[in-house]
Amino acid sequence: MKAHILATTAAAALLSACTTAPGGEMDPIADAAVDAGISIPNGTGYFASDSDLPFQAPNFDAISQEDYIPAFEQAMRIHKAEIEAIKANPAPPTFSNTIVALEKSGRMLGRVSRVFFALTGSNTTDRLDEINTEISPKLTAHGDSITLDPVLFQRVKAVYDNRAATSMTPEDATLLENTYEGMVHAGALLTEAQRERVKAINTELTTLTTEFGQQAKAAMADQPVIFDNRSDLAGLSDSDIKAAADFAAEKGFPGKYAIALQNTTQQPSLPSMENRAAREKLFMASFHRADGTTDFDTRQLIAEIAELRAEKAALFGQPDWATYAMWDRMAETPKTALDFMEQMVPALAATQRREAAMLNAAIKADGGNYEVKPWDWYRYANRIKAEQFDLDEDAMTEYFQLDKVLEDGVFYAAGKLYGLRFERRTDLPVYHPDVWTYTVFDRDGSELGLFYFDPFQRPSKRGGAWMSNFVDQSFLWDTKPVIYNVLNIPKAPAGEPQLVSFDNVNTMFHEFGHALHGFFADQRYESLSGTATARDFVEYPSQVNEVWATYPEVLSNYAKHYQTGETIPQAMIDKIEAASKFNQGYDFGEVVEAALLDMKWAALSKEEAAALDTPAKVDAFERNSLKELGLEIDLVPPRYRSTYFNHIFSGPTGYSAGYYSYLWTEMLDRDSRKWFMENGGLTRANGDHYRETVLSRGGTMDYFKMFENFAGRAPDVTPMLEARGLIAGDEAADSEVSDGALPGTATE
Ligand SMILES: [Zn+2]
Repeated sequence: MKAHILATTAAAALLSACTTAPGGEMDPIADAAVDAGISIPNGTGYFASDSDLPFQAPNFDAISQEDYIPAFEQAMRIHKAEIEAIKANPAPPTFSNTIVALEKSGRMLGRVSRVFFALTGSNTTDRLDEINTEISPKLTAHGDSITLDPVLFQRVKAVYDNRAATSMTPEDATLLENTYEGMVHAGALLTEAQRERVKAINTELTTLTTEFGQQAKAAMADQPVIFDNRSDLAGLSDSDIKAAADFAAEKGFPGKYAIALQNTTQQPSLPSMENRAAREKLFMASFHRADGTTDFDTRQLIAEIAELRAEKAALFGQPDWATYAMWDRMAETPKTALDFMEQMVPALAATQRREAAMLNAAIKADGGNYEVKPWDWYRYANRIKAEQFDLDEDAMTEYFQLDKVLEDGVFYAAGKLYGLRFERRTDLPVYHPDVWTYTVFDRDGSELGLFYFDPFQRPSKRGGAWMSNFVDQSFLWDTKPVIYNVLNIPKAPAGEPQLVSFDNVNTMFHEFGHALHGFFADQRYESLSGTATARDFVEYPSQVNEVWATYPEVLSNYAKHYQTGETIPQAMIDKIEAASKFNQGYDFGEVVEAALLDMKWAALSKEEAAALDTPAKVDAFERNSLKELGLEIDLVPPRYRSTYFNHIFSGPTGYSAGYYSYLWTEMLDRDSRKWFMENGGLTRANGDHYRETVLSRGGTMDYFKMFENFAGRAPDVTPMLEARGLIAGDEAADSEVSDGALPGTATE
């Protein structure tokens, strides 16, 4: 699972749709402004106009930190004046003078937001962070003031109500529908009093979820686990133990040892630790994070957040937050997402029990007289895995050199499938010397776009890997995509070969899958262009692209030993593939449990949420919700417990009622891989077909329809369950886990 962010903040996501007018074309905003007698201020400074570099690439050499606040403020004023002009237009509302005008508004704001939020993610400074804190609430309020403007909505509604009588392209129709439904979803059809309550709830949710994020972070970062004796850490490397001693001293515990907690319930040090009591201590500290065991306690916050979300949903006439939040998803309803996950439970529970029995046998053989617990799990699972599959990940890494993986692997596969060609260039300004740029050429030799590759870990970069655009493809603006991939690969010391772990090789293919989705965008409107798709769809093309990392023809082209130049032995790859089905009762189980727990919280009615009025009731609700699932939750706890489940409780919306998306897109991905392999693998014909049916479609059509156009049928969960080792390939046809039919696929 990859951390991944397409749009940097909710505000940026909203604004990324906004945009100015290219020369020559009729400008509905300027026309409206003249007719309504409204003057729109001119911007000044770098962000006032399009960059004059090739592809409108940002000119980082011409931007200073102190440009941002004035640029944001000016851009919001201009955007506001544009909206006033659209509202005051004396002409009756039309698709062009209202919907297209809205799409075109806020161009300067889009320009400054894209550059600013790219840098706060990948190359931030204290000053940029400060500006972010100052500007984010203003951007949210600015966005709300537009989406909740009743006069503007009346114009949008008039165009929408008259849509049957208007001749429009399918893309126009989608833009109209999205604009209208987006405003309705924000509260445009509510009464004045209800709208005020929604605004108040939004503000309160922002406060509570920010507080949750801070508490959950503090419960992790401010509470390292302290061990008294070196022997407690037996099994860790000498350098790790020294780091633990230094860290303890730094935290005010000289002579002791401290281990910092990491994000998930499982902790990376556990498999190496020989001392079982120490393992239990570390695990329990992680598991009881922010649940009142120490000074931190997020339980009351969670209950309040759940209640406010349910109240907001009720204002919209919806039974629960999940139903409200899933309006624009591919899965559409909570039931579809739940049915999808619950069908996996029997096989998953059986796998968990089978794996536990295997681990208990290993413990016994090792002379232990105890039953496996979560803090023992990976120690024994990893040991069995290493014995059974004879894996040596370090030896493997010697075959992966960064530049070869990118140019002879990632780019090579894109060449074979889609006919793309890449040319490194060094003439464009970059925001950090370690960023590489390439011109991308299409199958007919024309320029397709610009690609920035920012591979290395550094303190100014947040964790994870992601893709986004500096410039979106749009025929309306006549722009081609300018796309970046950011990763966190440890940089080799000067003079040493730059090798990459197998995990990061996969991440490189993954992020470039997002880039392809952006490069093949073929849309008129930015807000529907490329990766502007539903949360439970956007990770699909990126996951599919990972399949080429281990495809023999691609692998033999890029995976060469850094000293001998010898191609990676196929046996090494076969081991990785075989090992990928191992331990799925835990690896997959903890994700499914977290996804189901998310849906349980999101399915509460206002009354049910209000009844969770003590921390003990919050505990009981979590425990009962998990127990109901039928999985072995005491052996395999969820990847996140509620009290530190940042995805769903940090940020006003976040991944709430959406954590299942990772599993959903994996289903689409695995099914698509199967299609590719059944149809000849890495061929131009297959690539062109995928580009035509999926990668070029942006957010312009129904996602099930897109998938059907590609695969010739509805998505099937079976290949995913096979890949996870939950059902064997040859048993799939008569397995009771899945008959191949997916609930809720019959849309349209
Ligand atoms: Zn991704």
